[in-house]
Amino acid sequence: MLNLLFIADVIGAPGRDVVRALLPDLRRRYDVSLVVANGENSAGGFGLTHDSATALFAAGVDVLTGGNHLWDRKEGFAYLSQEPRLVRPANLPLETPGRGFAVFPARDGTPVGIVNLLGRVFMKEADCPFRAADQALQGLKDQCRVVLVDIHAETTAEKIALGWYLDGRASAVIGTHTHVQTADECVLPGGTAFLSDAGMTGGFDSVIGMDRHVALRRFLTLLPERFTPATGDLRMNAILLRIDPRSGRAASIQRLQIPWEAGPAGPARLLAGEEPAAAVRGAVRERVRDLRAGGIVPALALVSVGDDPASAIYLKKKSAACAEVGIDARHVTLAAGTDTSTVVDRVRSLGADPAIHGILVQLPLAAPAEAAAVLEAVPPDKDVDGFHPVSAGRLAAGVPGFVPATPRGILELLRYYHVPLAGRHVVVLGRSNIVGRPLANLLSMRGVDMTVTVGHSQSGLDLAELARQADLLVAAIGRAEAVTADWVKPGAVVVDVGIHRVAAGGGKQRLTGDVEAASVSRVASALTPVPGGVGPMTVAMLVANTVRAAERLLARVKV
Ligand code: NAP
Repeated sequence: MLNLLFIADVIGAPGRDVVRALLPDLRRRYDVSLVVANGENSAGGFGLTHDSATALFAAGVDVLTGGNHLWDRKEGFAYLSQEPRLVRPANLPLETPGRGFAVFPARDGTPVGIVNLLGRVFMKEADCPFRAADQALQGLKDQCRVVLVDIHAETTAEKIALGWYLDGRASAVIGTHTHVQTADECVLPGGTAFLSDAGMTGGFDSVIGMDRHVALRRFLTLLPERFTPATGDLRMNAILLRIDPRSGRAASIQRLQIPWEAGPAGPARLLAGEEPAAAVRGAVRERVRDLRAGGIVPALALVSVGDDPASAIYLKKKSAACAEVGIDARHVTLAAGTDTSTVVDRVRSLGADPAIHGILVQLPLAAPAEAAAVLEAVPPDKDVDGFHPVSAGRLAAGVPGFVPATPRGILELLRYYHVPLAGRHVVVLGRSNIVGRPLANLLSMRGVDMTVTVGHSQSGLDLAELARQADLLVAAIGRAEAVTADWVKPGAVVVDVGIHRVAAGGGKQRLTGDVEAASVSRVASALTPVPGGVGPMTVAMLVANTVRAAERLLARVKV
């Protein structure tokens, strides 16, 4: 399938800014092969010039289409007649410079025909768009199967009529010009994707992209006044088309409406984890001192099977944190290949040992040992990782119990930085028993009081759209840099749980998260860094859970 993106009428500098900010992420996320944008209003809100076109091409646009305002700027005339990546309306006099249709290669080499037409109803005079479309398709027929038509017209009826006229002959007929996106997208029976109007890209706190105060005054006084592009409530309207390159038939058409904010306060505030983690470890150290004074040396058994290199690093960090606060960390390392019942027996004997207060099973276990059976062998009152079904059940029921370290660390981090939670909407991406599911339970508990939505691989809807509804967005999907700026509501707080090692060029590697920090930090108000965000909090919460297990034994209280 060929993915084509059509960006609706770009209005002035604000529209160009939106395209520059959002297009790289969109191209990557939707695996876009060709980007077409209507650029006739991209210079100051009217017309297309060398500078406005150059900015759009630099942002990643491949082809520009026009309309009735294309030649509003005299300084653009010479440029427009030479620019090979511009398609102007086809139904104009023969003498008009430029081309009314042309073929462009998509990234995979598929030739794509682009046609631009003007409507005639309530518009300036032009030749018949229907007959001009016939001629354009005739001219393209031996060159390409995929053809996209931009019909720049005022009335819905004329655009719908053209959609039916070209059904089965063009891959897509997309309307432009009114600047208001319609919701009538469909694939017509002959395989032509259709939408009456794609909308606009620019400031929506406006009258169709223009400063609303000026527009209102013009209506109220009927006096001439210069329009200026609006700068508030910036959004991109676009259309994503999936087209079969062999038949030229459209498989789907999807409308996109993506908000973007330049972030007047600059880049997102970094919610670093090391400082709150040190505070947690400091408080734990005091409690360990009291326990030791009472004759109890808190001890944590770290059980691992096999020699997974990532696990070795995590175990080292956990041991170091235990040493720092005075917890006795005891490594119980079993060879790869140890069967489940042997591991279960070992965990049970640790469970029966009164000198051990907490048991942590480092995942993943080398085969054939099965994690579920081993985790269930941990007695719930020593389950400092909170992965036992009894711990999960207690959390779900809202009664005291061990909460897994990563969700607990995330809550502690948010509280440390005074992020408002009660009554806010959190979208948690990921539903693992380690992060997503317990975090959803924790954040919806009485006292935290967030409204929670959980997204996962089977959500069956546009996750980016879901994520954009979040005041707080938590990414825990285990996909490097999958969450980009267009997933984030301007001003939202973003927690990045993922941790990945990726190539950094020159044979080097770097650590990154599930969030693409460079783009997201331009939209979010705050973001946890990777590394140095959730990671240190997870380790700190593990030692906090362990001291709690030991205190419970001392005081004979429930955890
Ligand atoms: P996991 O067990 O692999 O779970 C991933 C979750 O994400 C699953 O619920 C999965 O959905 C969902 N998912 C996967 N691909 C998706 C997609 N394309 N769109 C939407 N949802 C998708 O991972 P995890 O243990 O929760 O860990 C998540 C990430 O956090 C990993 O990178 C891990 O290394 C990291 N992590 C970091 C810390 C820390 O302390 N910093 C702690 C724990 C984990 P399904 O359920 O439908 O498969």
